[in-house]
Amino acid sequence: MYDMILIRYGEMTLKKQNYRKFLYRINENIKNKCSHLKKLKFQNTNYRFYIYLNGEDYKKVVEILETIVGLHSYSLCKKTTNNIEDIAITAVEIINNTKTNKNFSFKVETHRGDKSYPLTSIEISQEVAKRVIPNITGMTVDVHNPDLVLSIDLRNEGTYIYTEVISGLGGYPSGMAGNGLLMLSGGIDSPVAGFLSIRKGINVNAIHFASPPYTSDMALQKAIDLLEQIAKYTTDDKISLYVVRFTEIQNAIRYNANPEYIITLMRRAMYKIASQFSLMNNFDCIINGESIGQVASQTLESIRVVNEVTNFPIIRPLATYDKDEIIKIARKINTYDISIRPYEDCCTIFVPEHPIIKPNLEKVLIEEKKCDLEPLIQEAFSSITKYERSSD
Ligand code: ATP
Ligand code: MG
Repeated sequence: MYDMILIRYGEMTLKKQNYRKFLYRINENIKNKCSHLKKLKFQNTNYRFYIYLNGEDYKKVVEILETIVGLHSYSLCKKTTNNIEDIAITAVEIINNTKTNKNFSFKVETHRGDKSYPLTSIEISQEVAKRVIPNITGMTVDVHNPDLVLSIDLRNEGTYIYTEVISGLGGYPSGMAGNGLLMLSGGIDSPVAGFLSIRKGINVNAIHFASPPYTSDMALQKAIDLLEQIAKYTTDDKISLYVVRFTEIQNAIRYNANPEYIITLMRRAMYKIASQFSLMNNFDCIINGESIGQVASQTLESIRVVNEVTNFPIIRPLATYDKDEIIKIARKINTYDISIRPYEDCCTIFVPEHPIIKPNLEKVLIEEKKCDLEPLIQEAFSSITKYERSSD
């Protein structure tokens, strides 16, 4: 029954120049992702974007809109003539289609784009309400706090009617904010951190530390599958994945360091490699799924000692999130079920019984020295391989 979709953009605080770029990117992104839906037509105005369905199934378009970052909200609309009787008939149809309760209140809001129209916007609202109310049972008027707002957008070419404003993902369009390197484990947190970074316009690449044979191919596959899920939110449905062989570093730490420090030393080695790799590739930041206090390695003291190896910017989108909030997002972006597959990640093998909660930098440096990690880090660095999809 819907004819078109009205799109509204997010983050209005940008400077004019950037805002234009923002709109262009978002529109191009929508058009590209909808390119297989041949009947669609698009129309740009200053602050709005319209998609004309022309018989295409609106659900297919909505599915795509749910993956578009930078999109503030959208509404499914139906178009009719500017005749009040026609508007009222269409309004009744739309209200019947969207109402969820037997008894509910409503109000009409009219935007009159056609300034030559003989009625004012208030008069249009009143005339429409008058005709709609007797045709819908259980509906009353409440102009202050209505359950349902019937929006009428009357223009020269016709009238657009909608009742629902559906929230989009918000944020910035893909790639607006430079390049980042996501430290991706197989857990719940890092894919969510990756998604939130994509939502802020960061062009995300991923690095994964694997320790074969301690970690299996299935653990790597998990990382690949997680990336595939969050890649849906990027412009070209793709995220590059770089895999580091971490086995020798982990062994050196395991055999030489005080077990309490294993996690701290592993983290430092990961950050060293990620920083060096980011510098080499001219990335702008590293993204990590750490959340303050979640586990021993994520106390502020631990983060500080780990972070000491680099002055590269580290973004931790989940730093202040609670686990249940993270899980909620993970479910929404369909990464949760993949994350809870049982395969071991390199951080869960050799985990000491009592990892140090408040590591002291001097002691960490003494333990690190015992492991003679530097040559192994360089070796691991040169082992980095780009994972390519077999279909590419
Ligand atoms: P996650 O759920 O993302 O695995 P976590 O709560 O299990 O996080 P840790 O295992 O302590 O936490 O890891 C903290 C962060 O370090 C991860 O979110 C991720 O960014 C990074 N990290 C951990 N293991 C790896 C790995 N094998 N490869 C790449 N990054 C990793
Ligand atoms: Mg983990």
